[in-house]
Amino acid sequence: MIDVGINGYGTIGKRVADAVTAQPDMQVVGVAKTSPNHEAKAAVKREYPLFVSSDDRVEAFDAAGIPTAGIVDELIDTSDVIVDATPSGIGAKYAEDYLEAGTPAIFQGGEAADVAEVSFTACANYDDAQGRASARVVSCNTTGLVRLIEQLDEPFGVDRVRATLVRRGGDPSQTGRGPINDILPNPVSLPSHHGPDVKTILPDLDIVTVGLKVPATLMHVHALSIDLNSEATPAEIRDRLDASDRLFLVSDEMGIDGAGKLKDFALDAGRPRGDLWENCIWAESIAVEDGELYLFQAIHQESDVVPENIDAIRALVGEVDAETSQAMTNEALGLGL
Ligand code: NAD
Repeated sequence: MIDVGINGYGTIGKRVADAVTAQPDMQVVGVAKTSPNHEAKAAVKREYPLFVSSDDRVEAFDAAGIPTAGIVDELIDTSDVIVDATPSGIGAKYAEDYLEAGTPAIFQGGEAADVAEVSFTACANYDDAQGRASARVVSCNTTGLVRLIEQLDEPFGVDRVRATLVRRGGDPSQTGRGPINDILPNPVSLPSHHGPDVKTILPDLDIVTVGLKVPATLMHVHALSIDLNSEATPAEIRDRLDASDRLFLVSDEMGIDGAGKLKDFALDAGRPRGDLWENCIWAESIAVEDGELYLFQAIHQESDVVPENIDAIRALVGEVDAETSQAMTNEALGLGL
């Protein structure tokens, strides 16, 4: 069994913890938090040993009646691998601690690429991450782009990608985020940072991205235009995308016309927290004009990186190859709608 410690038990960390628990070859040995909030209570209820980020925070947990198992340094020492899911920028501050303890670490997309030895998306570069001391699972948007491009590239060849990312203003629990009644070019300077982030995994790809932020919390939506270097019909593209368990082709007859119904569908399907680990691609949007493919996809920002974190754990400290790991993750979580 791989002993996994999770530093940061928020939106991503709590999902990764449950996903680790679902796997046959790994277990959660503890999660770490700074604040004794409802998520800390939920961690204890799920029987995850709860570690505190520093000595001076223990009192606050004691006062809230939340039992703790120690300080995060102890968790780092006893884990075979740490998944760092602390807020953007905090992971970099822990990087030295992980190195000093000799504990391989997985960072998230909010960190700069140089925080880790390699940026990671399972379908593209699992092998590059094998046996490394650290990897960074790229952001939700980058993960969604890489998965789609990889699936298309092998049969059809991807020459060029242009993407407009309509991004949710914040997660449902991020009450301080916005906009509330606005549409923001974001970042306003073009192109956006998402293209360069994709290139941390696919360095030779010609990709340009632009981004906007809208008053929504549910999901991101991408409008893509992709130059293919071979002829492909929409039907062939649909078949190819349908073949991957990490891509969900939303068929016309489902009557799902947006992110709201997608989330409703996920809840009805019994998905934990209404999560959609897959890219959700509208089959009806797939069109080819003069060798250029167009489509819309929705990305559930809170959960698409979760299976990637599981594969990153196996890549760093496990003993299985890329295909086996992805199949194990998909099977244990129930991917493939
Ligand atoms: P979050 O704020 O929901 O959770 C962060 C957790 O870390 C909280 O439990 C908090 O108590 C804890 N924490 C804060 N400071 C800490 C410290 N010093 N030591 C230990 N724990 C600490 O954040 P999140 O949304 O889960 O984001 C985590 C990372 O994942 C970021 O890099 C983010 O960019 C990335 N990410 C987030 C999303 C998303 O949509 N939320 C999607 C993909 C990637």
